[in-house]
Amino acid sequence: MSERSPYLASRLQGFGTTIFAEMSALADRTGAINLGQGFPDVDGPDVVKDAAIAAIRGGQNQYPPGSGIPELRHAIAEHQERFYGLEYDAETEVLVTTGATEAVAASLLALCEPGDEVVTFEPYYDSYAGCTAMAGAHRRVVTLRPPDYGFDPTQLAAATTARTRLVLLNSPHNPTGKVFSRDELACIAEHCVEHDLIAVTDEVYEHLVFDGEHLPLATFPGMRDRTVTISSGGKTFSFTGWKVGWICASAPLIDAVRTAKQFLTYVSGAPFQQGIAVGLGLDDAYFDAFTTDMRAKRDLLVAGLSDVGFDVFAPAGTYFVTTDIRALGEHDGMAFCRALPGRCGVVAVPSVVFYDDVEQGGPLVRFAFCKRLEVLEEAVARLKGLGS
Ligand code: PMP
Ligand code: GLN
Repeated sequence: MSERSPYLASRLQGFGTTIFAEMSALADRTGAINLGQGFPDVDGPDVVKDAAIAAIRGGQNQYPPGSGIPELRHAIAEHQERFYGLEYDAETEVLVTTGATEAVAASLLALCEPGDEVVTFEPYYDSYAGCTAMAGAHRRVVTLRPPDYGFDPTQLAAATTARTRLVLLNSPHNPTGKVFSRDELACIAEHCVEHDLIAVTDEVYEHLVFDGEHLPLATFPGMRDRTVTISSGGKTFSFTGWKVGWICASAPLIDAVRTAKQFLTYVSGAPFQQGIAVGLGLDDAYFDAFTTDMRAKRDLLVAGLSDVGFDVFAPAGTYFVTTDIRALGEHDGMAFCRALPGRCGVVAVPSVVFYDDVEQGGPLVRFAFCKRLEVLEEAVARLKGLGS
């Protein structure tokens, strides 16, 4: 949050620079190891790169169709069927977007009237608050509480009013690494059906589940036609800079979201779409190896941070692990993160920025483990010097 800006519209007052930009700039300035912003330090598969390069060389450099190139729409539909048994018509029920970020923005702008309410779970990914505000809607949060980041269904009921339009769910969940369980998802699904709510689900970490399994909310009874399922190629193929995302939903929901999307970016990067289409068709060995590799990184950082003395909430998925710094005698996560590069050459993200309840989030700090093992080892070694 920042001071009042003289030019900024009132609905965006208070939204300063995102914490990811601030912390990556701090890492660049100080040369610290960046375990803040979640991006991998190795590229994804060459075949995916080669397909994008071939598309550029092959002249696919003009506006692609507004819904996305057919190769990618079909690859997305096949992916949903292959991994989850969900059937979508690639012509009418799939929309390619400029990353999951645009998918979330277009969904909220398309589906909410000013004054509507959006129920989401805190801590929440920062763009949810920004996009809800841009849509003129209001957020209502249900708190996920450590150590397992479960929620109280009565809080979900209390957060739902006559103005509630949709539930915005992120599983696997950033920043906690929580993977919502079958029972929790069933509870959310029943709630949506009972109150006739749309669900918008952000599943960008769908292939980064280390314990348990990823279950799309759209697979639950009554949910297929009321769920806007969002994902992205950034995480699954380690090309976060390509910004190829997508939405699967019923045709009327896709039509609505496309109406907003066409005025945000119109279309999304043509050659990168060819690359991600190839990626989605890779065999199971790719997806298995990707998860196994990231699990080893999770294990290393979780063990390392525990050794340093943090209270660690081991994540079941994503790129991230949350820690409580009170175990180190610290209290203020924001001050801790701003000082950390100077103290020991490591950058992390204060989780307070993901909370409305700043008391809950204040002492929590998020570390990203999507880095090479030797980089994580060096980061842990540096953090061990914290007390000295
Ligand atoms: N949702 C979540 C939960 C994320 O962590 C991120 C960050 N990568 C995004 C959406 C944005 O995805 P993209 O880069 O595809 O826009
Ligand atoms: N999703 C990434 C994270 O949580 C950041 C992406 C961004 O900078 N918007 O670290």
